[in-house]
Amino acid sequence: MSRPALQVSALDGHYGDAQALAGVSLTIEAGSFVSVIGANGAGKTTLIRTIAGMLKPTRGEILYRGRRIDGLDPADICELGILQVPEGRLIFPSLTVAENLDIGGSLRRTRARRRQNMADVFEMFPRLAERRRQKAGTLSGGEQQMLAIGRCLMGEPDLVMLDEPSLGLAPNLADEMFEIVGWLHREGRTILLVEQNVEECLARSDRAYVMENGRIVLEGRGAELMADDRLRAAYLGL
Ligand code: ATP
Repeated sequence: MSRPALQVSALDGHYGDAQALAGVSLTIEAGSFVSVIGANGAGKTTLIRTIAGMLKPTRGEILYRGRRIDGLDPADICELGILQVPEGRLIFPSLTVAENLDIGGSLRRTRARRRQNMADVFEMFPRLAERRRQKAGTLSGGEQQMLAIGRCLMGEPDLVMLDEPSLGLAPNLADEMFEIVGWLHREGRTILLVEQNVEECLARSDRAYVMENGRIVLEGRGAELMADDRLRAAYLGL
């Protein structure tokens, strides 16, 4: 069998003395769609930021395609094809749409294909193409989220980590966002999706993990978890 895309083992993470991750282990098979759900403050964002190299774990290890990556700089982790669409989008509001995309395309690995990749992003998101010279701060919330995804695609990701892409969007735009994430997956990318929108998330996931207080408390196939009484009581109010 091929190696998992990502293997996280017994990961601890701290902010000063406060523990935010406690023994987190998860496996993401190449090409699969994995989600992590849990309430505010459960540690989901911390997990993504730790995989991305922005926070150093205090214990445990992270393997990407069999190679140890915890301890690498965030820029080197991006060069491996592990890219995130961060919580709150973090686009540059005073730069134009095209300039924001250009930044996403500035990795060593993808720089030479920047033009073609931008053309592909504009084909996928015609609304961004129409607004390419507009300052990103003037876009609507949904358009900014598309821009954050487009910027990630400029870096030709293999593993895409999305942190609550539906947050703050009207229901129809949130649906559109889930469609886009589904499309990224069908295109062959490996997906790690962090969400509070539990039903949408589980319906699409090959495997899902539930976090509480920095720990994984439940895991299983998406459909299995959807039928789990503990999950239904805690997250769906059923
Ligand atoms: P949310 O949905 O609100 O983003 P989350 O599941 O992503 O929640 P984290 O943001 O990872 O949770 O937070 C996990 C814990 O770490 C929380 O107790 C939070 O208060 C704490 N925490 C997060 N960021 C910091 C920080 N920069 N400094 C100190 N503590 C932090």
